[in-house]
Amino acid sequence: MTTPAVRSAAALRRRTLLGGALSLTAGLPAVVLSAGSAAADGSAAAGPSVLGCEEWGARPPKSPVKVLAARPQRIIVHHTATANLAEFGQNRAVALARAMQTYQMDTGGWIDTGQHFTLSRGAFVTEGRHESLAALRDGDRMVEGAHCSGQNTVAIGIENEGTYTSEVPPAEQYAALVALCAHICRQYGIRPYQIYGHRDFNSTQCPGDRLYALLPQLRADVAAVTGGDPTAPQWPLVRRGEVGERVRVLQCLLVQRGAVLTPDGAFGPATEEAVRAFQKLIGAGVDGVAGGQTWNQLCAPLAEGAVGEAVKAVQSRLSAYGFPTSADGVFGPGTRDRVVGFQAARSLPQDGVVDARTWSRLLV
Ligand SMILES: [Zn+2]
Repeated sequence: MTTPAVRSAAALRRRTLLGGALSLTAGLPAVVLSAGSAAADGSAAAGPSVLGCEEWGARPPKSPVKVLAARPQRIIVHHTATANLAEFGQNRAVALARAMQTYQMDTGGWIDTGQHFTLSRGAFVTEGRHESLAALRDGDRMVEGAHCSGQNTVAIGIENEGTYTSEVPPAEQYAALVALCAHICRQYGIRPYQIYGHRDFNSTQCPGDRLYALLPQLRADVAAVTGGDPTAPQWPLVRRGEVGERVRVLQCLLVQRGAVLTPDGAFGPATEEAVRAFQKLIGAGVDGVAGGQTWNQLCAPLAEGAVGEAVKAVQSRLSAYGFPTSADGVFGPGTRDRVVGFQAARSLPQDGVVDARTWSRLLV
């Protein structure tokens, strides 16, 4: 579920924009992944049945929802942290959708429901934030959400009714989650390994230990429908005292997000402070060590047309791996060719986009 951390991060962002410190999205180009989307050729599969906002009687948003002209990069799985009720009908799904919207608008202060979709324990799917369903149907845009700090402009949020810290979801709910994720992946060209839990980005228990432990299975079950390798990237732990290229990449990514730092490859006090500031900004656990949450948030996909320090980091790593690339910070056709070469050598999809899995292999 969305937490107060999201609000404080939003407040931080407002201060950040005024103060010119670290920012959540500075300098990051929109990336449109090209993996085959059913929507792109007009043959969109029907997908699971979803009750739209009008059908379940949603309140109108307080202000217009923000529609982004880019496809999302990933899916984030949540649990609602509500009781594990033995009520499995559509009426319960509607009551849940209304209760969440009321809570999030009246107590959370958001303009509308935070997540894009809600999945009841009885396997009914309801639309969360207005216009999420139409955007998914067309597969060419997304609605900005409020479900995961640092990821609301790039990730679709699915709230699963229940508390899955010590229980697993009912089989019907899990099967419906597989179907919903597979449909979202197809519509938007998202690869199945890009299905994450909320805790992969923010300091939270969500989606509970048991549901989180099911995510590798969920990725595999979605991949069985959509194709593709479901293996999620592995990230290194990089901390103070370390010296080397991984540190330099980390520093470049922090600079890309607005940190004032010289990428010298030495993880000293200034780098640790920049990591802490970034972790605070995006609602991750603040420990000054770059681990999964930090890398997941820092390593946004890069494609041809991107510019900046993050591109320089990619170019420098490509050169180190035998794909010589001028580190000019401009992702042109030459850089794309080298990325494709690197991907071929690592048995990765050869699309020339530096997404999370290519990023993680560049850090090995
Ligand atoms: Zn959550």
